[in-house]
Amino acid sequence: MDLTTDISYLKGVGPQRAQLLGRELGIFTCNDLLNHFPFRYVDRSVVSRVAEIDTDKDYIVLRGTISNMQTVTNGHTVRLTAQFRDMSGTVDLVWFQGVNWIRESLKPDTLYLVMGKVTTYGNTLQMAHPDIEPASQQDKALSHPFIPIYSTTEKARNKGLNQKGIARLMETLLEQVKGQLPETLPADIRERYHLMPREAALNNIHFPRNNELLAKARERMKFEELFNMQLDYQYTRSLRLNQSQGRVFDTIGEHFNRFYNEKLPFELTGAQKRVIKEIRTDLKSGRQMNRLLQGDVGSGKTMVALFTMLMALDNQCQACMMAPTEILANQHYNTIRRQTEGLGIAVELLTGSLKAAQKRKIKARLAAGEIDILIGTHALIEDDVVFQQLGLVVIDEQHRFGVKQRAKLWAKNTIPPHVLVMTATPIPRTLAMTLYADLECSVIDELPPGRRPIQTLHATDAQRLRLFGFMREQIAKGRQVYVVYPLINESEKSDLKDLMDGYESIRRAFPLPQYGVSILHGQMPPDAKDYEMEHFKSGENQIMVSTTVIEVGVDVPNATVMVIENAERFGLSQLHQLRGRVGRGGEQSYCILMTKDNLSSTSRERIQTMCATNDGFRIAEADLRLRGPGDIQGLQQSGMLELKLADIIEDEPMVKATRDEVRRILEEDPQLAQPDHYMLRKHVAQTVHIEWNKIS
Ligand code: ADP
Ligand code: MG
Repeated sequence: MDLTTDISYLKGVGPQRAQLLGRELGIFTCNDLLNHFPFRYVDRSVVSRVAEIDTDKDYIVLRGTISNMQTVTNGHTVRLTAQFRDMSGTVDLVWFQGVNWIRESLKPDTLYLVMGKVTTYGNTLQMAHPDIEPASQQDKALSHPFIPIYSTTEKARNKGLNQKGIARLMETLLEQVKGQLPETLPADIRERYHLMPREAALNNIHFPRNNELLAKARERMKFEELFNMQLDYQYTRSLRLNQSQGRVFDTIGEHFNRFYNEKLPFELTGAQKRVIKEIRTDLKSGRQMNRLLQGDVGSGKTMVALFTMLMALDNQCQACMMAPTEILANQHYNTIRRQTEGLGIAVELLTGSLKAAQKRKIKARLAAGEIDILIGTHALIEDDVVFQQLGLVVIDEQHRFGVKQRAKLWAKNTIPPHVLVMTATPIPRTLAMTLYADLECSVIDELPPGRRPIQTLHATDAQRLRLFGFMREQIAKGRQVYVVYPLINESEKSDLKDLMDGYESIRRAFPLPQYGVSILHGQMPPDAKDYEMEHFKSGENQIMVSTTVIEVGVDVPNATVMVIENAERFGLSQLHQLRGRVGRGGEQSYCILMTKDNLSSTSRERIQTMCATNDGFRIAEADLRLRGPGDIQGLQQSGMLELKLADIIEDEPMVKATRDEVRRILEEDPQLAQPDHYMLRKHVAQTVHIEWNKIS
């Protein structure tokens, strides 16, 4: 018997229970069972008195006698009832299964430990299918005071897979594999982190002898869990780096230099310079770059992207930049075209709303190598878009693009282009260390000089008149205002109605000809969107009422007020993203979060966080803490939510330690060929399946 053995062969299981274990608990092999860790433990030595029973607790231990057993038949069903009694009171016990066997095995006048969840039934206390053991088994209770509590389901419980049933299987298994649970972690790591040997850890995590050993056992298994996750991610990455060829961009040439000397409208920030250097090192290395560029809204990522594209051009390659919306693609196109004017660089735009003839022309020029930089939306990854020599792909606002879409771009080219993914959604450090363990990461952690921090205020409907007054003041100073409504689901009629009502009331409060109000939402035709956007951008309209379509990237430096309606309905990262639309010029900017009066405590805390800080990383951490990792984009697929023991937030130091150790090991021994790495090699052989057409 080894750990890969089908669970049905374990003594006490058999085909029927095996099916149940698989279906209900996802346990198919002995190894699966071994890794079904208790989610908590009950200390046998802490016995409750009936008079003090807390029905909120999901498992308690009672000590007393059992009497008055009765089998009750009701049609087809049989149940057994009995009365448990201690010095302070009684609890009704009831069984629906195994009635005869239980009836025979329980003896009157014997002291038992009776364990389980107590519920109230009318005004009596009841315990169904309790775990029972003679209180006289003191030796066992003393050597293993903790009862493991396993997650199980109603169906499994009814077929004997209750706490005790699972624990019994676990005991059998641990007995059978004794001496056969090899160490997996390299010896030096085990020593340095004082980790318990694997076999002892597995024994103690299921049947701990005392608190201290339990803590050591959990620590060890947690470390192993995080270590293996890092190993999977980083091994994948090292394979990619060692096996995938990249174009070598070793020239800094005319495009880069002329832009830098003649066109750059400002001094680069220190962070921008550092990141450009990091990218340059990648591009020279001969390996394909796969870099994530994180930077708060307004930190100047687009400029970094432009420099990177110029490097591609200087090395006889084309570059493209993909944006998640047409508005944003348009904006990048206009900015980059303006900034590179007179340098002889052919910049073009390709989006879905171009006429067929225009598209054809662009595609022909692209294939002929007549276009240097192509900017666009999803239209860029259509099958008939063929580059002559694509050297670099920049993807803006990564979280809107699926991995599959990126893969498509990559698959088109024999030599994979370098990839730069930019995101303004800061990812908490712990997540970045895991989620992006296979991507290189750069961070722009500095805003261009002269920016004033945005002031964020919380207001409710009662203050609406004051809000309008404030908007008028700002407009009188020549500034512009966004008013954003949630439209979480574009098809949600009531959301759209809120937006239209809001638009009407703003129009009434800010009438023509003195004021102009634009409106923007996802269901408008593209030319109507452009029209409204242009009127706002040109300053002709002072107010823009919109849904979150403006969330990503829109750049109107003259806008200084961002009003967010029903702010409690947005996630923190989204609020932060929206807020980043103002504060882009030199003027003091404001973000006003409108909410209803009575907020839940979580909503209140979120709004307070927004008012307290402008730091995207702190906000991302708070978001993670308040909503949990389940809501973070891209995390669902990452496997991180399947962690059994570790918690990526609480265990940050361990996440970091395992990341560093795995990194060191793979640097020293990329093939995992050393004897001490044998188990690691075995592990990756089982878990890492590279899909070569995947980018990240
Ligand atoms: P991001 O995409 O990171 O949100 P952008 O690239 O749109 O930010 O830059 C925001 C604004 O800051 C733009 O108007 C840009 O021209 C300007 N900017 C970028 N880098 C600098 C810099 N080093 N100094 C001054 N302004 C800058
Ligand atoms: Mg941007």
